[in-house]
Amino acid sequence: MSTSGKLPESIRYCIIGAGIHGLSTAWHLARELKARGTGSGDDIVIIEKSQAGAGPSGIACGVVRNNYFQPAMRELMAHSVEVWDANAEAFEYHPVGYLQISYDEMGEDVATIHEQQKAIGYESEFIDGVAATREHMKGIFSDWRATGVSSVLHEKKGGYAHNMATVNGLLAKVQAEGVNIVSDTLVTELAVNGGAVTHVVTNRGMVAVDHVIAAAGPWVPKLWEMLDLPDTTDIVSEGTTHNVPTWKFWALQEGTLDVDPGYLMNNDGSMPPVVHVDADAPLYDEAGNLLVDGKWGIYYKPDFNFGGVQGGYMPYPVEKPWRDVAIDPYGPASPDFVVGEDFRAVWAAALSHCQERFEGMAHMMSNVPSGGIGAFTPDSFPVLDTFCENVYVIADSNHGFKMIGLGALVAKELCGDTQALLEPFRYNRYALGKLHPVSNSPYPWS
Ligand SMILES: Cc1cc2nc3c(=O)[nH]c(=O)nc-3n(C[C@H](O)[C@H](O)[C@H](O)COP(=O)(O)OP(=O)(O)OC[C@H]3O[C@@H](n4cnc5c(N)ncnc54)[C@H](O)[C@@H]3O)c2cc1C
Repeated sequence: MSTSGKLPESIRYCIIGAGIHGLSTAWHLARELKARGTGSGDDIVIIEKSQAGAGPSGIACGVVRNNYFQPAMRELMAHSVEVWDANAEAFEYHPVGYLQISYDEMGEDVATIHEQQKAIGYESEFIDGVAATREHMKGIFSDWRATGVSSVLHEKKGGYAHNMATVNGLLAKVQAEGVNIVSDTLVTELAVNGGAVTHVVTNRGMVAVDHVIAAAGPWVPKLWEMLDLPDTTDIVSEGTTHNVPTWKFWALQEGTLDVDPGYLMNNDGSMPPVVHVDADAPLYDEAGNLLVDGKWGIYYKPDFNFGGVQGGYMPYPVEKPWRDVAIDPYGPASPDFVVGEDFRAVWAAALSHCQERFEGMAHMMSNVPSGGIGAFTPDSFPVLDTFCENVYVIADSNHGFKMIGLGALVAKELCGDTQALLEPFRYNRYALGKLHPVSNSPYPWS
C-alpha cells in the first residue's frame, strides 16, 4: 500500500483534484475494484495542487436539493441524496428539507417538478396560491411576510451539509481505502500519445497512467485546454446549429448575517428547512431605496459552520478566472473572491423582505470573504464523459456539492459498466440536439 503522499512512477487511475468529486470517485472506485477482485485503493492516486477542499467543495453553502425542472438532473440528485442519507453523520449532513418558494411565472414548472418527484418516490408537498403560500410559510416561521411569491415546493428530503466536514469525512474514507493523496502538486500537462494520455505531468515530476479522472472543479476547462479539446461547441436546437463557447464562468455571491444561528429556528424552536425564495416584488433597503425592480432570488439557512444565517444571491458572469488579474491566475478561485457591497445590501434587504426578524439588520452582514467561481458548460448542466480514450471528465457545471453520489456512478463506468443515470450528460448531446428542458428560474443551473 502506498499512502506516502509521493508521486508514483506509474498508476492505473490518476484523479486530478481532491474536491467532492475526486474524493467520492476515489472512495467508490477503491471499493468497486475490491468488490470485483480486480484491484484496490493501491491502484489510485489523487493529485491535488493545494489541499483537499481547497476549491468550491470547501466553501460551498452545502445545500442539498432535488428541485430540478430537468428529469435527468432530478434522478441523479435523488441517487446522491441516498448517499447523503446513508452517511449523514460522517458527512455532517442535516436532512432538514428544502423550500422552493416561487413567483407566478415559475409556478407551473415547479408543479411539474412536484409531480415528477412523486413519480420517483421523492417526498415533497406542493402549495399553490398566494394565501396558501403565506399560510404554509407562517406555519414554519410566524414572521413570514414575503410578497411576490405564490407557490411553495416543500421537499421533505434534502437539506445541507457542512462543507469542510464533508470533505474531511470523504478524505477519511479515501485514506481508509489506501488511496495515495499527493497534495501541493500542480498538474501542468497531460501528455497525449497515440490518442490517449500516457503521462500526467506535474511541477514535481510525471506519472505514467492508464486512466485519468479530471475532477478539477472550476479548473476543469484548464485541463480541457491541455487536452486540446474544442473551445467552442455546436449546439443543435430545433434544427438550427449555434456555436457557443464551451465554458463560461459565473461568480457566486454568498455571505453570512452575523447573528447566532439559533436566531433562525422555526416556530417549534428546531432547525428549519433550507429556504430558497424567487420573488418578483420590488426590493427596497431599510431607507426605502429601490434596490431591485424585477425578479430576484435568494437562499438561506441557519449555519453553525459559518456561524450565522448563511446563503446567497443570483450569480453574475465573469471572465476566465485565470486570466483575471483580480483573481490568482492559477490559485484557488474561491478564497480570493470577495463579494461586493451591493450583494450585502441586496441580500440583507431580501431577508428582511421575507421575514420580519431580519428588519434593521443590514449592518450585521459579515465582511469575511465569501462566494467563489463556477465553470459552466454550454447548457449549464454537467458533462460526464470520456475524452482522448482514457480521460474521464467530471465537469459538474457547478451543480456539484450535493452530487456526492456521482463518484459511485463514475467508478462503475470506469470499471466498464455504463450507467443509465449518466447517459443524458454526454458531450455529444449538444451535437445530437438531445438537450435538457429549460425552466423559468432566474438561476443558470435550475
Ligand atoms: C460559493 C459557492 C457555493 C456553492 N454552493 C453549493 C451548494 O450549496 N450546493 C451545491 O450542490 N453546490 C454548490 N456549489 C457548487 C459546488 O461547490 C461545486 O460544484 C463542487 O464543489 C465542485 O466539486 P469538484 O470536486 O468538481 O471541484 P473542487 O471542489 O473545485 O475541487 C477541485 C480540486 O482540484 C484541484 N485542482 C484544480 N486544478 C488542478 C491541477 N491542475 N492540478 C492539481 N489539482 C488541481 C483544486 O485545488 C481543487 O481542490 C457552490 C459553489 C460555489 C463556488
